[in-house]
Amino acid sequence: MGTYFNVHSHRPPVSEAITIENLYRDFEQMKAGRHYSIGLHPWHLQDHKAQMDLLAVHAETDAVKAIGECGLDKLAAAPMPLQEEVLVAHIQLANKLGKPMVIHCVQAHNEIVHLFKQNKPKVPVVFHGYNKRHTVAELLIDQGFYLSFGAAILNRDSPAAQVLSVIPAHKILLETDDAEVDIADIYSAAAALRNTDVESFILQVSNNFNTVFHI
Ligand SMILES: [Zn+2]
Repeated sequence: MGTYFNVHSHRPPVSEAITIENLYRDFEQMKAGRHYSIGLHPWHLQDHKAQMDLLAVHAETDAVKAIGECGLDKLAAAPMPLQEEVLVAHIQLANKLGKPMVIHCVQAHNEIVHLFKQNKPKVPVVFHGYNKRHTVAELLIDQGFYLSFGAAILNRDSPAAQVLSVIPAHKILLETDDAEVDIADIYSAAAALRNTDVESFILQVSNNFNTVFHI
């Protein structure tokens, strides 16, 4: 049995899976021996200058495997220019540290692709919680980005399930996010959607994970 990789979780790891836990503040809560992504979520940009300073300090530690989740969200209260300014700061930090990015994007995919063209990430970029239609997926994959899928794929009629079944295998990552699901169930659902056996699918995702993250 291979190893499961959980790219994005808001819960402490419950299984043997290699899990990247996300913190959007209180970065000092990181615990030894665990893996984290840390970044300013567009919903939580209060006192962003001070938080960004703290982020820069904590992001250097070995426990931090990725910068994020950060990104653009049209439903968030923070004005778009501020969200963009904060995202650019995250790109610069990720580039400086050579750590991949975990992206949160809601109703702003064209904007974020445009922003990434002007502020080039030199590190792998993962769009987490992907659940948009295939044309958006193609736009992101064309830019070299990875897509991470979570509980949405448990519903076979979701856009996520449909996209997962057709995109190139080397762009797929999996996660639990804030859902109370076992990452193993996400793997089985994903393997079924792709008509592949779980063992070879585990191996594929593990290769993808190791290409993006260094753990
Ligand atoms: Zn999340």
